[in-house]
Amino acid sequence: MSQMKIEAREVLQSMKPYSPGKPIWELQRELGLEKVIKLASNENPLGPSPKALAAIASAMAELHRYPDAQTTDLRKVIADNYHLSSEQIIVTNGGDELITLVSEAYLDAGDEIIVPQPSFSEYEFGGQLMGAVVTAVPLGESYQYEVREIIHAVTERTKIVYLCSPNNPTGTLLLKSELQYILDALPKHVLVVLDSAYSHYVESDDYTDGIEFVNAGYPVLVLHTFSKIYGLAGIRVGFGAASEEIIRSILQVKEPFNVNALAQAAAAAAIGDDEHILQSRQLVLEERQRLYGFFRELGLAYTESMSNFILLELGSEAELIYRKLMEDGVIVRYGGIWGLSRHVRISIGTLAENDILIKSLQKILPAVK
Ligand SMILES: *Cc1c(COP(=O)(O)O)cnc(C)c1O
Repeated sequence: MSQMKIEAREVLQSMKPYSPGKPIWELQRELGLEKVIKLASNENPLGPSPKALAAIASAMAELHRYPDAQTTDLRKVIADNYHLSSEQIIVTNGGDELITLVSEAYLDAGDEIIVPQPSFSEYEFGGQLMGAVVTAVPLGESYQYEVREIIHAVTERTKIVYLCSPNNPTGTLLLKSELQYILDALPKHVLVVLDSAYSHYVESDDYTDGIEFVNAGYPVLVLHTFSKIYGLAGIRVGFGAASEEIIRSILQVKEPFNVNALAQAAAAAAIGDDEHILQSRQLVLEERQRLYGFFRELGLAYTESMSNFILLELGSEAELIYRKLMEDGVIVRYGGIWGLSRHVRISIGTLAENDILIKSLQKILPAVK
């Protein structure tokens, strides 16, 4: 047989694989641990919306049918919820898929995207996949957005500016006034993608999830997900909201059956489950404050978060502490993947889970420092 000569696309050589939070079962198997808690992927620790579970149960009997390729019912529910029209909504296989689809719809090789740094890695992934040039604009002091730097980075080849608010992994906001500034300053050929995956956890008067800017006709695509407050990460649903024209372009690259039938039913039910949303939000707001208190007692610096996770500074031993937490059955996310080698990102769990985290830190820290 002759030597293989099948070459994958050149861009694949420079692409980093996504590094997900370690699943509970994996740590259990690796270390033989029975009790493991996962505070690493910003999931809802209260579980899925009960209304979503009921909707999934009743949708099961129709699983021999293909799902609705247009996600008609779900788009209507989302549109009504946000006072938009159904034509302004695209439903995707998680918010992640929306990022890939936007990249496919708008980026030619050599085009440029602007991403905040540190932020969600999927923006860069989408850009690299299409052979686009990724321009990272670092956040400033206390991880605040530097809006002038973002505008400064725009060139004739810039197609997309990504903004994430609250930003993952810092929990910091892009203020509404800052978004207004960016939209007014950007040239007409640039699309803003505003990632509002964590919008439900914000407490601030100067916050926007961007929908009002979509309504006002700005070139903004707002990303939302059912993976966070709705507790449906495992079934994969997200959506985008923008002008009909932008949505039409993205629909052109979408696979017909990208969102499965159970996911469509679950999401439509979850968005109206006010009790589950309220409880989930309340838990995060209360536990966020309680965790701050513990961190202060432990002498640890943290970034105040508008989200369901907290970026915690542990110093030069951060990676060691991260590993010791893991040995203790507590999975958090090490900051190294974002170039934050002195930090970990901790998802806010239930009261009981957060107590376990704090006990574990109280045990580990004196031994390391
Ligand atoms: C979780 C997350 C998403 C969406 O995740 P999916 O599970 O794919 O819906 C998007 N952006 C950010 C910043 C996230 O943290």
